[in-house]
Amino acid sequence: MIKTTLPPEFEARLAEILPQKSEGLFEPKAYQSFRINTLKISIEKAHELLKERNIAFEKPCFCDYAITVDRSHAQELLKSDLVSQGLLYSQGLQSMLPVLILDPKPGERVLDLCAAPGSKTSQIAMHMNNQGFLKANEPIRERFYRLKSVLELTGSKAQLSWIDGRRMGKIVAEVFNRILVDVPCSSEGRFNLSEPKSFAYWSIRKIKEMSHKQKGILLNASRMLAPGGTLIYSTCTFAPEENEEVIDWFLRKTQNRFEVSSIAVEGIKSYPSFIHWQKDQYDVRVKNTLRVLPDERMEGFFIAKIVNSHYK
Ligand code: SAM
Repeated sequence: MIKTTLPPEFEARLAEILPQKSEGLFEPKAYQSFRINTLKISIEKAHELLKERNIAFEKPCFCDYAITVDRSHAQELLKSDLVSQGLLYSQGLQSMLPVLILDPKPGERVLDLCAAPGSKTSQIAMHMNNQGFLKANEPIRERFYRLKSVLELTGSKAQLSWIDGRRMGKIVAEVFNRILVDVPCSSEGRFNLSEPKSFAYWSIRKIKEMSHKQKGILLNASRMLAPGGTLIYSTCTFAPEENEEVIDWFLRKTQNRFEVSSIAVEGIKSYPSFIHWQKDQYDVRVKNTLRVLPDERMEGFFIAKIVNSHYK
C-alpha cells in the first residue's frame, strides 16, 4: 500500500541534514523554470516572444538562458508551440547547474554517462553549439528512447550508446575532456507530497544500494577522463551516503589521482557539505562540493567537481 505521508525515518534524517526546517519543501513549487534552447532560438528573440504573449518571466542572475514563470504561466507554456517545437525546454534551475559548472565548450570531447531523459545532454549540446564530439549514454531501454526523442526535439547532436555506466570505461577506449555523471539516486530532493509514489519506495537499504552503484559508475567514468579534464558528479538527493560518502570513497580508491575543486555560483543558496555523518568521517576535500539549499524555485541538489590533476 502506498504511504501518503513522508517516512518518519526520512524526516528525522532530514532534520539533521538541512540547516533549517523549510516550509512547503515537498509541496509543488510556485514557480517553474524553462531553458531557452539557443540551438533553435536566440535569448533575445525568446524574451520578445514571451513579452508579446504577455507571459511574465524572471531571469535568474546565474544563467542567461534560464527563465522562471509562475505556475499558471507554466501550464500555458507547456501547451504552447514554444515547447512543442523545442524552443523552450522545461528544466529545473537546479538541474541546469551541473552543466553550467561542467562548462563544456565547442570542439571538445564530452561524455554524458547517465543521460536520459536528456535535459542535461541537450544543455551540453547547446553549450557546445553542436560542435565537437558529444556522447550520451543510457542503459535503460525505455529511457534511451525518451533521450533520443528529446535530442531530436531540441536539435541536439550526440552519439548515443546504451552501456552500463559501471562497465563503459572497460569496454570503450575513449577519453573525454569533460564528463557528466548525473547518477541514478534515491531522488529525495524531488519528493512531492501530492505524488506519494515519489517517496513510497524510500528506505535506508535503497540508499545503501544506490551508494554502491554510484561508486561503481563514478570510478568507471574517471577512467575515461583526459589529463586535466573535468568530471561533474551530481545527485538530486540529500542522503550523505549518496553524496559526500561517494566522493570520499572515490578519493581513497583512486589514491589522490584526482582533486575536488571548489564550486562558486553567484546567487545560489547553499549549505555546508558534511565531513562526518553518523559514525563516518570523510576526507576534508569533500568540503569543496556544493549542496544546493532548496527554496521556492530550486530543489535540493548535490554537485562535486572532480579534476584529473595527476598527469597534468
Ligand atoms: N542526466 C539526466 C537529465 O538531466 O535528463 C538525468 C539522469 S537520471 C538522474 C539517471 C539516469 O541514469 C537514469 O536515466 C537511469 O536510467 C540511468 N542509469 C541507471 N543505471 C545506470 C547505470 N548502471 N549506468 C548508467 N546510467 C544508469
